[in-house]
Amino acid sequence: MTRINENFLKLSKSYLFSNIATKIKEYKALHPDKEIISLGIGDVTQPLSPASIEAMHAAVEEMTAADTFRGYGPEQGYPFLREAIVENDYRPRNIELDASEVFISDGAKSDTGNIGDLFSNKNSVGLTDPIYPVYIDSNVMNGRSGDLIDQKWNNISYYRCTAENDFIPTLPTQKTDIIYLCYPNNPTGTVLTKAELKKWVDYAITNQSLIFFDAAYEAFIQEEDIPHSIYEIEGAKQCAIEFRSFSKTAGFTGIRCGYTVIPKELKGFTEEGKPVSLNELWHRRQTTKFNGVSYITQRGAAAIYSKAGKEQVKQMVNLYMNNASFMKKELERFGLNVYGGENAPYLWIKTPNNISSWEFFDQMLCNANVVGTPGVGFGPSGEGYFRLTAFNTPENCKKAIERITKWLSKV
Ligand code: PLP
Repeated sequence: MTRINENFLKLSKSYLFSNIATKIKEYKALHPDKEIISLGIGDVTQPLSPASIEAMHAAVEEMTAADTFRGYGPEQGYPFLREAIVENDYRPRNIELDASEVFISDGAKSDTGNIGDLFSNKNSVGLTDPIYPVYIDSNVMNGRSGDLIDQKWNNISYYRCTAENDFIPTLPTQKTDIIYLCYPNNPTGTVLTKAELKKWVDYAITNQSLIFFDAAYEAFIQEEDIPHSIYEIEGAKQCAIEFRSFSKTAGFTGIRCGYTVIPKELKGFTEEGKPVSLNELWHRRQTTKFNGVSYITQRGAAAIYSKAGKEQVKQMVNLYMNNASFMKKELERFGLNVYGGENAPYLWIKTPNNISSWEFFDQMLCNANVVGTPGVGFGPSGEGYFRLTAFNTPENCKKAIERITKWLSKV
């Protein structure tokens, strides 16, 4: 008899976006003539930058000759990409990293999900609510969550983020070992200032906690004083791991590439309190369980740091942020309370008349033929909110807003 990891049975049966896909499929079956616009799942629509395409074509050419062909690469990534990241993403912000502190991966989903492998189940976990569901589900799988009671796992602390507290989480009152922060935030699109983030770094240093900082959306930050990296905060190298992704920044959702930074000075502890390098532990984990990202992909990723690549990627980000700004303005003009959308490609909308997130989803699908994501799917504090992404084309975003406002004006 082969025993399973029963923690998997604790997970809800289907992932949020599968539920949404099922609802859309059912609606389409009944209304085959309706054209549906999706502002739901956070997937990009713009093609890769010409710089990445060119670099990937050149990399394919290299694969055609025995003397330039590449087989297995280093599990942690090729030095050319790790160094480009240090040079371009960190040095200009006065953050000194060594390339060996950067681990290339197939994306931030895998890394934020897998990082839990390094840590004991005895750690307490805290996270902002609502949140990217991977953080919670991966802790459930590892047996760190406890039981689900009233929509919350009883071994996980939830830091409520709603309009009432301006989406700024309050520091935990009890000692918490692992804290997940995601800024700019998915799903709320909100950010923390340096001063706010510093409070978390200070808390982590004082309490010997570890922060998992997901900065997958840092490229979308428009305002000054919003940290792009947690390492902009003094002391963060002693208490934080940072996750980044090329998915949204450079259109790599399908190509797959991201990276994780684990500073050498960052330590975890044995039961006896002996410090252990987390960089070395992750290195060990990755060399066993991961065989690296393809050479072609890494060449494509490195190309976004060329002069042309930087400009092209900036244009892509601007296109999405112009969508966000347009959608926010129009919906606000219509009287809705809309959060986010200024430093992130997500709008977080308070549902009118306090209707539930799922009810709003159903009504919008049926009456406006636009799909978004019910806020409650990201955690209990998301109830009564709704997420729209700005990742569609400008034409579709405009059409979707026209339909939504037309529908709401009749309600
Ligand atoms: N982190 C956050 C907060 C996200 O919203 C997403 C994707 O939507 C990811 C990570 C996953 O990124 P990747 O495509 O690099 O796996």
